[in-house]
Amino acid sequence: MPSHIAFFNFPAIGHVNPTLGLVEELVKRGHRVTCTVTRHFVPAVESIGAEAVVYESVFGDFYRSPYTAEANAGEGLRCLREATSLVEQVGPFYERNVPDVIVHDFMAWGAKLYAAKHGIPAVRLFPSYAWNEKFSIQAKFPLAEYTDPQVMEMVGQLTALLPEFGLPADPMAFLQEIGDLGIVFMPRAFHYDGETFDERFVFAGPCLGDRSHQGHWQPAGDRPVLLVSLGTAATGWPEFFSTAVEAFRDSEWDVVIAVGDHLDPAELGELPAHIDVRRHVPQLDVLGHARVFVTHGGMNSTMESLHHGVPMVVVPQMNEQRANGLRVDELGLGRHLAKEDVTARSLREAVDAVAGDAAVTGRVSELSTAMRATDGPTIAADAVEAHLAAR
Ligand code: UDP
Repeated sequence: MPSHIAFFNFPAIGHVNPTLGLVEELVKRGHRVTCTVTRHFVPAVESIGAEAVVYESVFGDFYRSPYTAEANAGEGLRCLREATSLVEQVGPFYERNVPDVIVHDFMAWGAKLYAAKHGIPAVRLFPSYAWNEKFSIQAKFPLAEYTDPQVMEMVGQLTALLPEFGLPADPMAFLQEIGDLGIVFMPRAFHYDGETFDERFVFAGPCLGDRSHQGHWQPAGDRPVLLVSLGTAATGWPEFFSTAVEAFRDSEWDVVIAVGDHLDPAELGELPAHIDVRRHVPQLDVLGHARVFVTHGGMNSTMESLHHGVPMVVVPQMNEQRANGLRVDELGLGRHLAKEDVTARSLREAVDAVAGDAAVTGRVSELSTAMRATDGPTIAADAVEAHLAAR
């Protein structure tokens, strides 16, 4: 039976992208799918047949961060402001258009509050690591300490807020709840302690949807292609791109560098023909041709690279990316290169070493084959429908 399925997103490109394949599948199955998004994401959700429920986010059009300790410690407060503001803005729409289930990003706390208040079943989405009784990213790679004044302030405000939504005044129970169903957009084999996650979790893999709205990319010649990107959210390290240009100026690589919004490609000066610098690239197209990916290790970039069988050099900037870089190292899928160790020389050496390591390319290609054999959107949509049917 067709249902109304409401997606509550966190407005970061890396959080919305992995949901698109699932949204598309649910639309194809005849459900009404609404997605709370900022204006930036309207074309992406409308192009796959979902309805956009637009709101203004405290994070702006989409999430960006300098990833300083100060900014990281303040994220909890910003997430809480986002939650209350989201409920205020989209609440009236959802009171007129009551969803059968709310499917929400694990950071969209507003969705959890709204679902609790209105007794609507909820499913969580993990575009990053999930947690259970054994594993939590916050315990293994802390983003901010619970003793930080900004974190303590957030915990205090959350404690006061929870009863307004009919929830116990227990912020840790709210933040650490495991829930009945979580969809994880990575393969179990990549997840830390993956074998400890039981039937409350579905590992759907990256669920790559259609990205034709980004345009297309073809290699210019037959040199090996190297993609370099720090993702869409990082704003704190523009110098990295000059280092990358210097590292590959005299190389055989065909280098594609995506600098994002916060740097004008012209600032990198005169470039040789084999270095193509753009603000954004259709990343999946480029990965389809790439031999190596120098990435910040955002979860999507990591998964997209593995899906396409491309080994990585991971240069992380914050805890989740560090977790990914270390996992890539641990599983022999590429190399982790710490930010403080990045020089033109170390970057070039790491890329050449990864490209020349047959054991690494073999393992990546094996994982890629397994990921391609997994129909993530179908698995995830089946889980959402089963959750609905059980109600
Ligand atoms: N992306 C893209 N073109 C670019 C840079 C990024 O299409 O030039 C996409 C990329 O494919 C991925 C997302 O943006 O789906 C970035 O997500 P990720 O989790 O890797 O990093 P974040 O931007 O959240 O730090």
